[in-house]
Amino acid sequence: MEFLQNTFDSLQQWLFESLVQPLAFALGLGNRLEDAYTGTGWLLVGLLQLGVMLVLIGPLQRWRPVEPVTDRAAVRTDVLYTLIHRLGLFRLALFFTLTPVLDDLIGMLRVAGLPTFHLDDLWPGLTDQPLVSLLMYLLVLDFFDYWLHRGQHQFEWWWRLHALHHSQRQMTMWSDNRNHLLDDLLRDVLLVTLAQLIGVAPGQYVAIVAITQLSESFQHANLRLWFGRWGERLWVSPRFHRLHHAVGLGHETPGRALGGHNFGVLLPWWDMLFGTANFEQRYDPTGIRDQVEQGRDYGRGFWAQQWLGFKRLAGRA
Ligand SMILES: [Zn+2]
Ligand SMILES: [Zn+2]
Repeated sequence: MEFLQNTFDSLQQWLFESLVQPLAFALGLGNRLEDAYTGTGWLLVGLLQLGVMLVLIGPLQRWRPVEPVTDRAAVRTDVLYTLIHRLGLFRLALFFTLTPVLDDLIGMLRVAGLPTFHLDDLWPGLTDQPLVSLLMYLLVLDFFDYWLHRGQHQFEWWWRLHALHHSQRQMTMWSDNRNHLLDDLLRDVLLVTLAQLIGVAPGQYVAIVAITQLSESFQHANLRLWFGRWGERLWVSPRFHRLHHAVGLGHETPGRALGGHNFGVLLPWWDMLFGTANFEQRYDPTGIRDQVEQGRDYGRGFWAQQWLGFKRLAGRA
């Protein structure tokens, strides 16, 4: 744990000094070096994730694909989403627009008497151990993520945005970041706010996001893989999440309440607890029923998809 932290820190230092710092000075942002250093951490996380995807998950997809890749253009769009997110462009945009507002807001709440609460103070000596603390925050944020995802399917307006994620019929390890940007924004605000309120330290937050994103890329892989009877109940597998994407099975909501399966992000436990888990070993085609039956268009390229998302939200597509 400490070794990993130290290695990461020296890599971050090196990347900062050799690339980011000179760039910041060249752009006249020499007064924002502290923020630039934080940003370097995120960039490094993204580069490491891309490395693992190319070296590990990619070969796994070629080894045991669920289906042949027949639509390369659709996959390329997802690659673009992944690069936008993992190379920090989305985060950079948030930094200049949203972060100052959010920081002010949380600052105001603190001044107004909101106590600085740290969940890991719960049991001094145990819950403040670095690893225990990390796992505890991971558990809480994952629980919250499960309900966010339920919300994305439960509320009609939210589904109009989240549908973009489900419209991929050629699902691969690149599909995790295929989302409407407004949907991403919303999720980010909610998660960051919760993390602040329960006292997740910045370094811990980076680690939790890094683990979550990498696991999500793996779950979307075009990979015929399940973790076995017990493993399936411990951690979300490619089989588990693919079933959530299955046409007519994973995310349809007849009568809305409790429709659909496998909303969990990291842990399948919440699905087990709230009756939405499905452990059948099957690998169905992915997509949305109205694409198959009515040929509804969710867009091919990035801009078309984003634009159609706004139109759906306004009830015009
Ligand atoms: Zn979903
Ligand atoms: Zn998904």
